[in-house]
Amino acid sequence: MAITNLEELSGIIELRDNERRWKEDGANTLPLLISDDIAALLSKEEIRRQFVPTEEENNDTVGSLDPQKEGEYKQTDRLIHRYRNRAAFFTTDRCFAYCRHCFRRRLAGHLVGPATEDEIRKAAEYIASRSEIREVLLTGGDLFTLSDSHLDMLLSIFKENCPDVILRLCTRAVAVNPGRFTPALIEIIKKHNHHAPFFLMTQFNHPAELTEKAINAVSMFIDNGIPTFNQSVLLKGVNDNEKTLIELSDRLLMARIKPYYLFQDDPIKGTAHLRVGIERGLEIEKNIRTALSGLGMPQYTADLPDGGGKVILTYSYYKGSVIENGKERYIFETPEGEIRYYPE
Ligand code: SF4
Repeated sequence: MAITNLEELSGIIELRDNERRWKEDGANTLPLLISDDIAALLSKEEIRRQFVPTEEENNDTVGSLDPQKEGEYKQTDRLIHRYRNRAAFFTTDRCFAYCRHCFRRRLAGHLVGPATEDEIRKAAEYIASRSEIREVLLTGGDLFTLSDSHLDMLLSIFKENCPDVILRLCTRAVAVNPGRFTPALIEIIKKHNHHAPFFLMTQFNHPAELTEKAINAVSMFIDNGIPTFNQSVLLKGVNDNEKTLIELSDRLLMARIKPYYLFQDDPIKGTAHLRVGIERGLEIEKNIRTALSGLGMPQYTADLPDGGGKVILTYSYYKGSVIENGKERYIFETPEGEIRYYPE
């Protein structure tokens, strides 16, 4: 049985003072919900920090609930078209467990429920009318909280209306509720996996989340031809050290998952205590790059406020240029800190 309140939670872990003082105070608070699979991992501090709420959430007065101003890019009830070539559809507000760092905490868990057939159809028709949209993120909430029949209906409508648009299946469920992925569910996905491909977009933030059950759930997609990419969030006390991120990347690759993004945690109100400074983030990015192959290296990325879009945050190895004997040479620093000159 999933945990939905502090009393139930205190039955499985001894609550600390700052956890006991957390208050669910109004419409903008992310509810407490911890799945069985995550409850089994709560003895690990890095998991506890991601799922057990604390009073720091209530006390955070900095930031906003929608720093990217997604609401301003709304085209239909649940469709955001912020980037020219892609759009995001909010399939539901429900998740199997609520992550305390959630960047959609203004939506997640606020009992709006799954998108209706009419909402899905209107979004799909809008996408079909905009040929510049090449990809749609089926997001939320978590897409896989939908029932099999609801998911089947949603995918049917998108595939009928916009068969050439790539659909990204965005989910944390493989980590927090891997038992959701049954052969029957995979059959539904397979049935719709024609024309433009699906891509599975997971969120694993710590190696401990890659349990055998989670890896098996992801394998069901990969074995059926669905490429899988992981989007982690850089979180204080969870993965803000080189050792953990290197291990996470190694384990993702061994599970055939490409580490794709390492997101700077957005300035969302209620999450300041989990945010890592960009200076430290850049230092981590530089250090893990020397230890990981290109395949294992995620892109450290920030989503700029006010709809500014994503930018890659990376140490600059390019140090300028010099003119010697009338010819320009570029100056680079090697990852080991030495200087090399590159001919024009
Ligand atoms: S699964 Fe995604 S939408 Fe749900 S709480 Fe976690 S980050 Fe937010």
